[in-house]
Amino acid sequence: LMQLSIPLNFIGFIYREIRQGLTDIEQMFDLLDVDAEVQDAPDAQPLVIENGNIKFNDVYFAYDENRPILKGISFEVPAGKSVAIVGPSGAGKSTLSRLLFRFYDVQKGAITIDGHDLRDVTQKSLRAAIGMVPQDTVLFNDTLAYNIRYGRPDASQEEIEKAAELAQIGNFVRTVPDGFNAMVGERGLKLSGGEKQRVAIARTILKAPPILILDEATSALDTATEQEIQDSLDEVSKGRTTLVIAHRLSTVIKCDEIIVLRDGLIAERGRHAELMKLKDGLYAKMWERQMEATEAEQRLRKAQEAD
Ligand code: ATP
Repeated sequence: LMQLSIPLNFIGFIYREIRQGLTDIEQMFDLLDVDAEVQDAPDAQPLVIENGNIKFNDVYFAYDENRPILKGISFEVPAGKSVAIVGPSGAGKSTLSRLLFRFYDVQKGAITIDGHDLRDVTQKSLRAAIGMVPQDTVLFNDTLAYNIRYGRPDASQEEIEKAAELAQIGNFVRTVPDGFNAMVGERGLKLSGGEKQRVAIARTILKAPPILILDEATSALDTATEQEIQDSLDEVSKGRTTLVIAHRLSTVIKCDEIIVLRDGLIAERGRHAELMKLKDGLYAKMWERQMEATEAEQRLRKAQEAD
């Protein structure tokens, strides 16, 4: 049993590390001694970002060849702008972010950043250029400061505190007895989903990447928390090329373009107001359903309060 439990712990550790920040992914694969899905080309060059313009050009992708997930997807995220991907569950939204991170290669078409095909650049330089705010952040069993500094190990205490303020987590830290030195995790401070996400945002503010992927949380947050998260996301995405993977719809209203995925194709695209005008449009229907769900939830909450 000992022999079995050690590797299992180790795999758990690796898994958490990978989910953590996705910064040291090559190192993780080295540790595990497994081949990553993709390899650097022998003549791969470091990616040099000039503006941070992302292009998906007629992208086809399938995890399993009998079941295509993306069937010719083209869109652009102009430098400094934000584009949201929405669509039914399983439509392939997160797959687009995995392709941009180059966890997999496209099967047809290309993805480029400032004109450089992702297959021609080193994975290390690509991942250094992209910041990811995942939907559920797993924190290290260490101090709050350590968890934020992970975004940039040479950051000073002052920079950490500034990032925490921008991420709207400063007020929370002030209520904690040990402040930034408080231990978090299983035996320390327990953070809510929203607080964890703001730690991830502070970390990303420190990393200051030119390109951002925001993977919006699936679980419902209360309105006040949602507004705080929204404000800190606005802060971190200011001036950065941002791809929003939207499992809910609240963050997409302000995006420069919204792409609606369905059955591996782009079904609708445009800004919020334009898409809402489409009679029987998929986007307008998704909003309708989300509003109904929110109202039902509020009614339930009121009924529980009245009890
Ligand atoms: P959701 O909103 O529910 O998160 P999504 O649009 O982000 O959905 P993806 O995670 O991109 O969906 O998945 C698209 C499809 O690909 C799904 O049907 C899923 O089952 C399948 N899929 C995802 N990851 C893998 C994988 N590693 N191997 C095989 N199939 C996968």
